[in-house]
Amino acid sequence: MRPHRAYSPGLTGVLSFRESRHLLEVLRAQVGDRFTVFDAEREALAEVVELGPPVRYRILEEWRPEREVGVEVALYPALLKGDKLSEVVRSATELGATRIQPLITRHSVPKEMGEGKLRRLQAVAVEAAKQSGRLRVPEVLPPMPLKALPAVEQGLVAHLGARSLVREVLDPLKPLALAVGPEGGFAEEEVELLQERGFTPVSLGRRILRAETAAIALLALCTAGEGR
Ligand code: SAM
Repeated sequence: MRPHRAYSPGLTGVLSFRESRHLLEVLRAQVGDRFTVFDAEREALAEVVELGPPVRYRILEEWRPEREVGVEVALYPALLKGDKLSEVVRSATELGATRIQPLITRHSVPKEMGEGKLRRLQAVAVEAAKQSGRLRVPEVLPPMPLKALPAVEQGLVAHLGARSLVREVLDPLKPLALAVGPEGGFAEEEVELLQERGFTPVSLGRRILRAETAAIALLALCTAGEGR
């Protein structure tokens, strides 16, 4: 069987239906095949003992790898059109976000998100965590109005024309909150409100980035760019 990582909360010895199906139908697993299982705290080498479904496994060896940024990293992207948030959730998970919660802003075209879409985004986060070797799957939460954002200890808001650069203001050892606007940008009063809540406006360069590119660029500067 090809190398595989399966998400198995609690490392209970039984895979979920979804994980079992992947192992059986895509990877054609057989009894005795080995793969990796993980949950929020542990990773382990496992061996298939029963095909089921559900697939049952036994743990051969367990360890605790360090793949997290080391501080909480909350990403608040504005609600975006179509399926653009999938790209944001996938990349943000790879880049170490611990929480992703879309914001309903003045210029967001969609003003809500259905239950099905939220579940799809949560599934994207699980897949991206598996792919990137993370143990912790970021929380993906239903959208909230920008006004409901609480005050943060350290926040950065991507804003066209801002003077500060991430490297000038970032303290990588403090919990971090990041906000990015929708296709139509933040309204000025929204940027002011974010500043009142502890967010510093930062520039991501001279070009106008798509909202999803901006979210990924901002997060990359704060985590990958710091070697975290
Ligand atoms: N016309 C919009 C405006 O004036 O804000 C453009 C919005 S841009 C497509 C979407 C979001 O990406 C912006 O609200 C901002 O958060 C972020 N963004 C894009 N390019 C950026 C840049 N060069 N610097 C900082 N933030 C940027």
